[in-house]
Amino acid sequence: MWLAEQLLDHGVAEPGLVAGGGPATFDDQCAVDLGQDEGLVDREGLVDRERQVGGDRRQVGLERVGAVVEDAAYAAQSATRYAEGPVFLVGDAAHRFPPAGATGMSAAMHDAHNLAWKIGMVARGHAGPGLLDTYEAERAPVGRRTAAETAAAWTRIFAGTGEPFAGRSLAQLDMGYQYASAAVTGDGGPDADPPGADYIPGAAPGCRAPHLWLDSGRSTIDLFDRDPVLLTAPAGGTWREAAAAFGVPLTTVTIGQPAWPALYGVAPDGAVLVRPDGHVAWRARAAGPAGDLAAAARRALS
Ligand SMILES: Cc1cc2nc3c(=O)[nH]c(=O)nc-3n(C[C@H](O)[C@H](O)[C@H](O)COP(=O)(O)OP(=O)(O)OC[C@H]3O[C@@H](n4cnc5c(N)ncnc54)[C@H](O)[C@@H]3O)c2cc1C
Repeated sequence: MWLAEQLLDHGVAEPGLVAGGGPATFDDQCAVDLGQDEGLVDREGLVDRERQVGGDRRQVGLERVGAVVEDAAYAAQSATRYAEGPVFLVGDAAHRFPPAGATGMSAAMHDAHNLAWKIGMVARGHAGPGLLDTYEAERAPVGRRTAAETAAAWTRIFAGTGEPFAGRSLAQLDMGYQYASAAVTGDGGPDADPPGADYIPGAAPGCRAPHLWLDSGRSTIDLFDRDPVLLTAPAGGTWREAAAAFGVPLTTVTIGQPAWPALYGVAPDGAVLVRPDGHVAWRARAAGPAGDLAAAARRALS
């Protein structure tokens, strides 16, 4: 028997109730895309659809998917606390979202990315334990708002009332947030993440540093790894000299691409300090006192 037929026999006939990009297996869970269209909710249509995307699923017994099917309910939840002492909640343990937009896995990875470099810095003795407090300060607002906005989008999808992501584009929701914490030094620029915004990559402090192809064929994104990175254009020599005097590991990269300063919102003699998770910790729009960089790095790591 086809999985779709079994779902229908158990009264699961709502479009999209069990969603996925076609039949997929997650350990012992199975999902079949029932579509968003009322017209698809008939036995023949569903079986046809299952046959097209999944081939032969006859061996899938409903007992294998029963827990998922019969308890299918979507949650929009965010934990009250994301950290307590040495315990940090990451991924689905911290938040669960309805599948509108499919943001659960990416949010889980962003949580881990945010936390891993901080633990590394503290464990290596380059940062104080206060850096770990910024995990909750940065990730909890993202989890709460993603829960709220995916829940609203999920409701709109089923009500058929307009665009699912009315408050922010999905890309902005997933990638465009701007961290505000003790590890980020603001530069007084406008809010980079207003409601209704589409995702426009930019290097405002707290935002994800934008991609740009480098001469080496790599992306700027590939530069952000174990240590913070100071990006400058060739004219940013004063900032590179300031970085050389640092006591913490800091990689300095000079970017020759003419497009870089404008993309990152700096003059050719400006600089941008990017954290290992690819978020901007500090930005100097032009040349300035060396102490500014030292102060920003201290703030980012203390
Ligand atoms: C059908 C379906 C489709 C999805 N589609 C998307 C999508 O398209 N895009 C997207 O971004 N997200 C999607 N998600 C959500 C995404 O899968 C989750 O948000 C993501 O997997 C969360 O990752 P996690 O590491 O926090 O948890 P999990 O992936 O659940 O990993 C937790 C792991 O811990 C293990 N574990 C549990 N208890 C213990 C224990 N006591 N000891 C040791 N190990 C234990 C579990 O076996 C599991 O391997 C989908 C989810 C489902 C169910």
